[in-house]
This record gives sequence, structure tokens and C-alpha cells, in this order.
Amino acid sequence: MKSLVIEKSDLKHNIKVIKKIAEKNELDDNGNKLKIIAVVKGNAYGLGLIEYTKFLIDNGIDYIAVSTVEEAIALRKGGIKQNILMLSSTAIKEEQKILIENNIILTIGSKEAGDIAEQLGQELNKKIRAHIKIDTGFGRYGFIYSNESEIVDSIKSWKNINIEGTFSHFSLAFYEKNDYTKKQFERFINCIEVLQKNGIKTGMLHICNSSAFIKFPKMHLNAVRVGSAFLGRLAIKNKVGLKKIGILKSNVVEVKTLPAKYNIGYSNSYKTKHKTKVAIVPIGYADGYNVKVDRDMFRPIDKLRYIVRDVKDALKKQELTVTIKGQKCSVLGRIGMYNIIVDITGKNINVNDEVLAQVSPMYVDSSIRREYI
Ligand SMILES: *Cc1c(COP(=O)(O)O)cnc(C)c1O
Repeated sequence: MKSLVIEKSDLKHNIKVIKKIAEKNELDDNGNKLKIIAVVKGNAYGLGLIEYTKFLIDNGIDYIAVSTVEEAIALRKGGIKQNILMLSSTAIKEEQKILIENNIILTIGSKEAGDIAEQLGQELNKKIRAHIKIDTGFGRYGFIYSNESEIVDSIKSWKNINIEGTFSHFSLAFYEKNDYTKKQFERFINCIEVLQKNGIKTGMLHICNSSAFIKFPKMHLNAVRVGSAFLGRLAIKNKVGLKKIGILKSNVVEVKTLPAKYNIGYSNSYKTKHKTKVAIVPIGYADGYNVKVDRDMFRPIDKLRYIVRDVKDALKKQELTVTIKGQKCSVLGRIGMYNIIVDITGKNINVNDEVLAQVSPMYVDSSIRREYI
């Protein structure tokens, strides 16, 4: 049986690194320290929603953010009492109601969403906790940054909404060129200034995700929303010493010896050169093995760069490996959905020996056990 192993000492190390970067920041105008909002969406990037969130809380993180109603509710059901911000705006009344009943902080990204929150505030006779989302060029959630008068008029018409924060989200903070990120930041600040000039209390301001948090200290504002950095899995170069969290543990389930010139795997892309002892290991791309997250996130030109890199790697014969009983072993042939075939020629490796494989935790099926060690 497989498990995703999470080393607590490494995770602690990453939390410490992130806190240290945050502490370098000067106090804001009100003398407050920079707030770290931990993003735990997508089953906590694969690390297991409840266990991971509890671990962060035990290590001094007290503000959590999620992307779906389901995640928010699961956290409350799991006993999490801290502030929880739902990052996605929803104009669906039933969804807002469930969130409010569970004391989740709403994101309001449109007049429609705010009007419904206002209605609910009246019906439930309470102040609705919310952050305002400004769309500075992502095209997803949020008031469009240049429609300042719409934002001002909307907010002024609400009497039952307590704005605890205002934020925006970068689309390209991981990219080596920074002009678009800087433009988004400028749009956000200009918009905030207009709101404040019109007497609106904007609450805590935040725009940085992990990449921006590390790259742009001047953009930290009052809070930062950090997700992938806790896992040490950044879309930018890791220059701050974060450790990669999450390794897939499995076992050898079969061992056999194949003759020379024998095919291995789908599409007959590999033939044994000589008699080859192999171990069958039940992990594959459905477990996130050899699935590279960063590739989906870049522009066509970057994809091209990656293809070039792939070709170079292939020419260098850089093979995929796993570690069995502490020994590095090459993966032969194509990777299956749930299986790989590993070269163990000349090695004392047997059925049931432990296999460790680097994976992207967010792709590891949530049915697979998360093991915090
Ligand atoms: C996912 C997400 C984050 C965190 O992004 P990372 O790059 O993983 O740190 C922050 N803000 C929003 C709105 C998000 O959706």
C-alpha cells in the first residue's frame, strides 16, 4: 500500500523560512506585523487538508484560505477554529449562506455577490465578514480595477457588510519578466487610493502569492497569501532554502528477470540490451509520478523552452529514477497510470522492499494515506 510521506521537520523548516522572510518586513502604519495567510486549497496541495492545516496552526499560523465552499466546511468540521477566508467570490445565495453560518470570511468580487451578502446580513441580522476582491488583470474574480465608481457606490450601499480586507491576485508573478506584475500592483494601489479617498475602509491589503512574496518584498502590504512555498514547490527558482515536501512511498510487488531484446512497457519504446532483472512498482502518473506542475503554468515560449530541455535531457540520457532500499534505480520504458518497471540488475532487491519516488503531491489521489513522520 502506498502513502505520501510528509516529513514534519522539513515542513517546520519551511514554515520557519517563510516566517523569517515575513518578519524582515517593517511593521505597517498601524504597527502590525505582516500577516501570513496560509492557502490550503486542493486538499492542501495534496498534503491532506485537515492534518496539514492543524500542523500549520500548531506552528503559529492563524489565518487560513481556501478556494471552495467544500474545503471551508471541511475545515470547520475538522475542528479548525481560526479565521478562514474563502478566496473565490460567489453570487450564489445558498453558498454564501452556508459560508456565513460557518463563520467563513467571504470574498466579494462583484456588486451581485455583495448585494446578496447584504440581503443575508439583513435576514440573519448580522454583520457579514468579507474581503473585497479587485481584478487587476486576471479576468476571473473581482471588481474590475478601473471601475472605481461602481466599487465605491456598491460598497456605500451595503450596511451589513464588514470589510476586513481588500485583495487582488497576480497572474504572472512567477515569470522572470516583472512588468505585468508591477502593472497589476500599480492598478491595485491606485484603486485602493480612490476607495480610501471616498471614505471606504479597505481593511488589510494583500496581493502576493508565494512567488511574489519571495520576489517582491515591497509588494507585501499587510498580508501575503502563501500556498506552494510551504511545500517548497515554487514556480520560481528556490533561492531561500525551502525543502521539497512530499515523497511517495510504495513497495516492490513483483520481481522478475527478462531476457535480452525484450520489450518493456506501452508503445514498445524500450528493449532490454541484455538479461535484465526488474522490479514492478505500483506507482504511476496517476500518483503524480513524473507529472510536472510548472509546465502548465507558462506561456507557449516557455513550453518551447521546456521541449528543448526535454530533448537535451533525452540526449544526455537523463533517466527517471526511484530509490529502492536506499539505492537509486532507473525506470525502464514508459510510465503507466499505476505502474513502473524498474531496473534492479545486480542489486539485492526483493518483493516488499521499500520504494521512494519524487512526486507532485497535488496529483496524488486523496484516497492515498498521508503519513506525517
Ligand atoms: C492559490 C492561490 C494563492 C496561493 O498561491 P501559491 O502560488 O501557491 O502561493 C494565493 N491567492 C489566491 C487567490 C490563490 O488562488
